[in-house]
Amino acid sequence: MRFRLVNGRLMFEKNFLEGSQKISQLTEIPQPPLNPSFQFNSELQHYLSGKQLLLDDLPYLLDEIQAHYDNGFITIRKGIDYEGKKPFCVRCGKKDLQWFGTYPCARCGDTCIYCRKCLMMGRISECTPLIGWNGPVPDTTLPPKVMAWQGTLSEGQKEASDRVSYAILHNKEWLIWAVCGAGKTEVLFAGIEAGLAANKRLCIATPRTDVVLELTPRLKAAFPDIEIASLYGGSEDRHKFVPLTIATTHQLLRFYRAFDAIILDEVDAFPYTVDESLQHAAIQARKPESAMVYLTATPNAKWQKECFSGKRAFTTIPARFHRRPLPVPEFEWCGNWQKQLQKNKLPPNVHKWIKKRLDNGKQALVFFPHIPLMENALPILRQLAPNIEAVHAEDPERKAKVQKMRSKEIPLLLTTTILERGVTFPNIDVAVLGSEDDIFIESALVQIAGRAGRSKDHPDGVVTFFHYGKTEAMLKARRQIVLMNREGVKRGLIDV
Ligand SMILES: [Zn+2]
Ligand SMILES: [Zn+2]
Repeated sequence: MRFRLVNGRLMFEKNFLEGSQKISQLTEIPQPPLNPSFQFNSELQHYLSGKQLLLDDLPYLLDEIQAHYDNGFITIRKGIDYEGKKPFCVRCGKKDLQWFGTYPCARCGDTCIYCRKCLMMGRISECTPLIGWNGPVPDTTLPPKVMAWQGTLSEGQKEASDRVSYAILHNKEWLIWAVCGAGKTEVLFAGIEAGLAANKRLCIATPRTDVVLELTPRLKAAFPDIEIASLYGGSEDRHKFVPLTIATTHQLLRFYRAFDAIILDEVDAFPYTVDESLQHAAIQARKPESAMVYLTATPNAKWQKECFSGKRAFTTIPARFHRRPLPVPEFEWCGNWQKQLQKNKLPPNVHKWIKKRLDNGKQALVFFPHIPLMENALPILRQLAPNIEAVHAEDPERKAKVQKMRSKEIPLLLTTTILERGVTFPNIDVAVLGSEDDIFIESALVQIAGRAGRSKDHPDGVVTFFHYGKTEAMLKARRQIVLMNREGVKRGLIDV
């Protein structure tokens, strides 16, 4: 796409005529004043409100978009801008040169620089405008009573729930630090209800598609008369303007100053923690005056420090609904277990641990740091029970195996960190083989330990870290769990 400045307005230029420019070359982009008598297209309004989309995302003729811009209803921003001579991607915030490529661009008839980082959301190049909405926000009339959920909250949940409501209504930032299995979703309901009643537009965002898929039916059940958009790669709800959105953090790249409150679930989870563009997306998707509620069971070291030094507002839910303490990991030295595996053997204490579970019919998850090591262990373990399975991220049968574990068809499931979060089996013990491996950072170990003892009927479970040398991460993970238990007792949230 090329543009031309005519009488202080931007003109979309379909042909590569002389005097037309790529949008990145323009020094300023004028914004025509809003013409209140203009008959705007309300479907386009729904498409664009709170968004930053590419022309490709908009099934409208260029003339119509031009007319809306001319009358002040559409904003146009550069997709790629420059800081001095260095390009940066306005959508995902990437600045490092390694993320930019060049290609002969058919849209502007020139060589164009584009951003590789956010390519999966449609290509952004020097000639790509980001289109937004500047007109009135679509009307959303909500029923007088929006929430159907009638469950009760534990004391710990109640306190956190009040904080969430407060944060949403007063545009605050707040961290809810809730132990694994504390029931954090219910903690959001009152805040969502209050936010919707105050006519706020809300978003629950999470790094993982699995979580979006799990949360959507729960939120739809809790708010049956509210339209909810569920956004992940390939979902259908992309163009709805709704009061409540549930989205992967990737999808936030399409939003711009859209939400009065974003609830960011599992802030510590991959890929959010390592991908700055997702953090950029979350910031861009908020309105300048808005609330941000972070949810996590395992804040990183920096955040923990900020909490304890008073720099970050937070509330903990240190105990589970069933009022029993979190299982505290036991450490067991198991020697050079990799060497043993190469000899087709398990360290004796690991063998004993697993045999005991199989004999007692107690299901267990055994975590491995890497796939090849796990695959070495599988045939050895199958000598003990032929129906033991192993699962990892790329395993096409991943879902089926998890289901089999749930229906108790398999006694033991070997896994990589893929099952460290998000899965609940009612009555299991948990072991980590090689907990000294770098992949087992503090948060991973806390999450893994958090798989045990989750149900009311089986609130206890054994968690054992088999190691070849204790690590700082192991000690910190255990310390975090012990501290939470202690706080739970102190606040009267755990029965002793
Ligand atoms: Zn980008
Ligand atoms: Zn181009």
